[in-house]
Formats: sequence, C-alpha cells, structure tokens
Amino acid sequence: MIPYGRQDISSEDIQAVIDVLKSDYLTQGPAIPAFEQAVASYCGVKFGVAVNSATSALHIACMALDLGKGDILWTSPITFVASANCALYCGASVDFVDIDPKTYNMSVEALELKLQQAEIDGKLPKILIPVHLAGQSCEMEKIYLLSKKYGFRIIEDASHGIGGKYKGAPIGNCKYSDITVFSFHPVKIITTGEGGMCMTNDPEIALRLTHYRSHGITRQPAEMTHVPDGPWYYQQIDLGFNYRITDIHAALGLSQLKRLDDFVSRRHEIAKRYDKSLESDTLTIHYQHPDTYSAYHLYIIRHKKKEGGIGRLQMFEKLRAAGILVNLHYIPVYHHPYYENTGKYKRSDFPNAEAYYSEAISIPMHTVLTEEEQQFVIEQIEKPMGHQNLF
Ligand SMILES: *Cc1c(COP(=O)(O)O)cnc(C)c1O
Repeated sequence: MIPYGRQDISSEDIQAVIDVLKSDYLTQGPAIPAFEQAVASYCGVKFGVAVNSATSALHIACMALDLGKGDILWTSPITFVASANCALYCGASVDFVDIDPKTYNMSVEALELKLQQAEIDGKLPKILIPVHLAGQSCEMEKIYLLSKKYGFRIIEDASHGIGGKYKGAPIGNCKYSDITVFSFHPVKIITTGEGGMCMTNDPEIALRLTHYRSHGITRQPAEMTHVPDGPWYYQQIDLGFNYRITDIHAALGLSQLKRLDDFVSRRHEIAKRYDKSLESDTLTIHYQHPDTYSAYHLYIIRHKKKEGGIGRLQMFEKLRAAGILVNLHYIPVYHHPYYENTGKYKRSDFPNAEAYYSEAISIPMHTVLTEEEQQFVIEQIEKPMGHQNLF
C-alpha cells in the first residue's frame, strides 16, 4: 500500500522524544517555548503560540479577533471542515468564496464581487480565512488590500503551508494577515503527532492566545486585577480551554523543524517528476502561481473524462485496487449534511468548487515515497483500464 501522505521520523526525532520522557517536564516545560521560538524565527514573525491541533489554533485565533454571535466569517469551500467550524464554535456564521479554477485557492475576483454585494446588503465578514491549499499560498497581498478597503481581519489557514513561500518570504510571517495557523498532524509537512501553532506579530493577540489555550488563566501579576494573594496565586481572567501541547510533542516538532527545508525540497523533486510525466489531454496538473513556492503538502491532479475514456471515479478505483491510497482533498464543506441542512448554501453559487470536486484526485506525495513507488504510481495512472473493470 502506498499512502497519499505520511510522516518521516528519524532516529534523532525519536531521541528528542526520549530525552523529554527522561526529563522533569512532560508538559509546560522548556520544549514548548523552544519550539515556538524556533518556528517564529524560521517564519520571520514575532510570536508563535503552540497548541494541541490546528483546529484549536483556528478556534482561539477567531476568539483573539473577537469573533462572536452575529458575526460572519468567510473561507474557501475547498478545505478541511475545521477552517469553517471555528466560526461556529464562536457562535458566528460561515459563508464561502468560490475557488480560482487554476490554483484552487480562494478566488480574489470572486472575493471582491462578493464583498461588493455584502457591503450593499450590510453583511460584510468580520474575518476571512484564506486556505493555502496543498501548500501553495493564496494571493495574500491582494486579499490584504481588500481587507483594508472592507474592514475585515485575516487568519491564514496554512495547515498545509509551513516551509512554503509567498513573494520570496516564508508563509507564516503574517505580513498580510493578523494570524497564521499551522498544523502538525502526521500527514502535514512536519509533525508533532497532533499539534498546531498560531503565528502573529501582534503582542496583544499573542497574549490572548496564551490565555485561551489554558483556561483563560494568567500567572503574570501585571495581568491580574490586584496584587497576588500569595506565591500560589493565579487568576482566571477569561474563559479558555485546555488546548495545550505537551513537551513530548514540542520536542518532536523542534527536531522535525531541522529537516523542514529538506522535506520541502524533496517534495518539489517528486512534484517535478509527476509534472513531467502526467500532463495529458485527460490530466491537468496543479498550476503554480509565479508568486508562490509551494510546500507541496498534496499533489493534486484533475482527471477529465474524455469521449470513450474512463471517469474520475473509475480512475480512483483503479488506483485504489492497485494499492495506491489516493484521496480527495476536499469535499466542498457545504456538501456536508451539517452545513447543507442549514439550507443556507446553494451549490450553484460555487461552480469552480463543484467542477474541482468532480475531477480532483490527490496522489501520493510524501518524503518517504521511493522513486520506484513513484514510478509505479505514474505507470498505474497511465495504464489503460482492463475491460472487465469497466463494469
Ligand atoms: C489538517 C487541517 C486542519 C486541521 O488540522 P489539525 O491539526 O488536524 O486540527 C485545518 N485546516 C486544514 C486546511 C487542514 O488541512
């Protein structure tokens, strides 16, 4: 079986985890700030606040930007459900902006048109979450300019994006956003097992994020309403959660970070080989905008049915039968019953997302994929389908 994505763990990674297990702190020890500072310095951003998942990171990012009841958040329909659910956690509502037919990221043209209409209707979003699909950055500068004109805040969902670049600078530098979120799930670029991080340049946002990840509690006398009652003292000054990451996870992340650039280079090698081999009348490879250097979390192809040829579903089944665990990223969020049952979303409002969903396949892309395995994947994609399998 060849998975579409998987982790790459070295003996150094394992040693880093063992070292924490033998140390005094399994959680809230020194590995967490060390990991946060290392990621922040890699990205060229002031603060990193590590949490137990990107889902938690998206939730507290929305809270730190004061998202609440009656507010509206917009995101891309072609994303993991967490990019939209974070709005619902805060009591806000969600709407979607159709994707660009080439990059599959949120379309800036569709965004601008939707903003013009929303202004007329008095329904402008408070927060926009552009998602860097497959690790390719959205057109952040244009989105940022629109945020100034229409007054919304920006959280980049860069769950796929660590190690990627936009206009030559690292994704996560927050030059065009308030907060950027990374995921460290095992299929992502670097892993902590489960984990995520919020990046920001704003000290007040960073402070609020640290409160929300741990019950809304502070131990800093300067943040308290009065002088501490004694050395035991702490105050709950807000309502938060236990979204903390552990030192075990953070140590793994810190060790993985050392190989991040190598991981992304290797992913580019794999992508180049696929690009060269696969483009055809029926297969479209993922267009790369010249302003971007993708982290290549995913390698997405689009399969168009040709007269007399097989469809996407049959291609998918053929590859799965050959032991290649292809996948589909993603089902448009508004297709899920939880969203569809609200009656708020019309599929016909998102023609590019619909077309994408009818053709997309994610094929294996990860750093432990061997050349032989990649060759096998290419051969299986190109191999004509046996007659008996067509029915
Ligand atoms: C993986 C992912 C998330 C959620 O990440 P977790 O760390 O698993 O919570 C959110 N958004 C996108 C786009 C993702 O791919």
